[in-house]
This record gives sequence, C-alpha cells and structure tokens, in this order.
Amino acid sequence: IPSATITKDDPGPRDAEPGVNSTLERVLPVGTALVASGHPLHPDVTKPCPFCLRIASGDVESRNSLAVAFRDQYPVSPGHTLVVPSRHVTSLFDVDEEELKEVWSLIGEAKLRVAAERQVDGWNIGTNIGDAGGQTVHHAHVHLIPRYRGDVEDPEVVYAA
Ligand code: AMP
Ligand code: ZN
Repeated sequence: IPSATITKDDPGPRDAEPGVNSTLERVLPVGTALVASGHPLHPDVTKPCPFCLRIASGDVESRNSLAVAFRDQYPVSPGHTLVVPSRHVTSLFDVDEEELKEVWSLIGEAKLRVAAERQVDGWNIGTNIGDAGGQTVHHAHVHLIPRYRGDVEDPEVVYAA
C-alpha cells in the first residue's frame, strides 16, 4: 500500500463527503493515511477504493485539475490506460461536465503518449457501468485501449471512408 502523500499540484477534494470519520474506523489503517491527507473516502465503502488510493499516493502518469490517468494494472493490450475523475464518484453518469472536459483532455494526452511508445493501429474508448455492465471498480473510469492489427481474428469492416 503506497503511503499517502498529496503532491502540491493535487487538486484535493472538491466535495468533502459526509461520514468520513465513521468510514475511517472501518478501513483502518489505510483510511487513516487517506483522511490525514485530506482525501475523501466514499461513506459506503468497507475497503478503500484502489483508485482513490492511487490518487492519494500520487502514483499516476498524468493529472490535471479534476482528473488523473494511469496504466491499467491488468492491461488487455499494451498501453491500456485508465482516465479517472479525481473525485470519487461511482460511474461516468455521476461525472459533471467540467470533470468530463478534463477527463477527455487527459484521454487525448494519454493517446499521444501511448502512440509515441508503439505502433498503434486503432483504439477503443469505453466505460463499464454497474456490476451487470462489467464494472469491477466502482470509481468512475474510462478505458483507453490501444488496438493492434491482428489482435483479434478478422474484424469485419462494414464501411470505410
Ligand atoms: P472495470 O472492470 O471497467 O471496472 O475496470 C476496472 C479496471 O481497473 C480493470 O481493467 C482492472 O485491471 C483495473 N485495476 C484494478 N485495480 C487497479 C489498480 N490498483 N491500478 C490500476 N488499475 C487497476
Ligand atoms: Zn475512489
């Protein structure tokens, strides 16, 4: 577990969540570090959010005022990146317009970084919402997935400009 240090340019919490203290008792000791760092924990969690932990520890590839980007821990393709609002909200439907702009901006930057690293032939951008939608981390995030020709068999092109 990374130590929780907030870097100078960390935007910090925008909306302090109520119930932080009662949450703290349930998620000790990690919660102590997070709350001490000023990072909000979702009041309903029984274990700390892995993305909030990562944000609090500063272990991210890039950040702007409302979002961060980091590589997926279990990439489905080389360069698979997650772009995440810094505020803990459950899904992309809970992200406000200002945050969406910042998320989209980091997606663009991450795309340039990954494309500079390797020959990327295509991309998928997606988000899973809810257990039934395949969401396993309930902190909103967008997947940026580089695709490589031949990584799946014979994709059918229906229309090409
Ligand atoms: P989803 O299934 O859409 O909720 O995606 C969650 C993603 O988060 C998966 O692709 C995981 O590999 C990734 N993941 C889980 N924990 C971490 C972590 N601590 N750091 C980076 N990526 C993670
Ligand atoms: Zn979170």
